[in-house]
Amino acid sequence: RAKDEGGGNHFEYEPSLHTNAEERRQLEVALRSALENDEFVLHYQPVVDAIDESVVSFEALMRWNSPEHGFVSPAKFIPIAEDTRLIVPIGTWVLNQACHEAAANWPEDVKVNINVSPEQLVEPDFAGTVVRALSHSGLDPSRLEIEVTESIFMRDAAVARKALEQCMALGCSVALDDFGTGYSSLGYLRKLKFTTIKVDRLFVQGAAQDSPESLAIVRAVVAMADSLGMTTTAEGVENQDEADLIRRLGCTKIQGYHFGRPMPAEDARKVVKRRGFDEKRKSA
Ligand code: C2E
Ligand code: MG
Ligand code: MG
Ligand code: MG
Repeated sequence: RAKDEGGGNHFEYEPSLHTNAEERRQLEVALRSALENDEFVLHYQPVVDAIDESVVSFEALMRWNSPEHGFVSPAKFIPIAEDTRLIVPIGTWVLNQACHEAAANWPEDVKVNINVSPEQLVEPDFAGTVVRALSHSGLDPSRLEIEVTESIFMRDAAVARKALEQCMALGCSVALDDFGTGYSSLGYLRKLKFTTIKVDRLFVQGAAQDSPESLAIVRAVVAMADSLGMTTTAEGVENQDEADLIRRLGCTKIQGYHFGRPMPAEDARKVVKRRGFDEKRKSA
């Protein structure tokens, strides 16, 4: 580290901190023109039924290829987009694009999951944005599942809740993403009737790696979701052992590299076709 490389100046580590702030500033500048320059694409990751492993949905995940910065991970640029509120126009693009691609590419029994940030939900007309994305694409509301994290309950909780209730009234479903990793409070499970709880891969992978605590947590979440009339999706399932364990624990749906990585819409279409073919062959 620069700090240890002599020179005796104990402020020498600062340039790297500085670079981080500078990098962040540069990413922000690049992010401002990314939408109009068509630098975003959506990739889609299959969500499968835990029992028969058929594809029930695809989760839309943003990919940004910046001319200056190359491929930038959503873990890096989404927080910047949220801080600057750029996530509002970007998120509207995601909604429109994902609804359009789902309507154009996949059979009617396959849904699309879309991640939505708190900043989008507290916009005055979030539900209107959803209505427009659905009507322009022709996607049936029942095929759209909105994913939010526990962070929506940190501030403006009432506004966010109302926006989600309006979406549910349209016929959309709502999933609670990364469950257990935020500032969890079970209180909000009383306040909003989520369709699905997504169990974070931290617990899923922990349970499979002989962590009795993780195992107990996944069991408890599945039991709780069952009693609340909610389904569960296990995130981050990477191998057969994890898939078998999760199935035994009674999760409704599974997502993870074992069943498919996020892929371009065109490849997602082929995955569904292949599954459809296999299914027909089985029943023939
Ligand atoms: P998320 O919504 O929890 O999405 C799941 C993340 O886990 C994705 O990372 C996915 O590629 C990754 N993943 C899936 N299966 C596995 C697995 O088996 N093993 C491992 N190690 N990882 C797996 P990704 O695509 O990098 O996205 C990161 C996060 O960025 C997302 O987490 C979501 O919070 C956010 N994000 C992505 N796209 C959007 C978007 O359009 N809007 C908003 N607001 N956030 C988004
Ligand atoms: Mg998600
Ligand atoms: Mg997640
Ligand atoms: Mg996440």
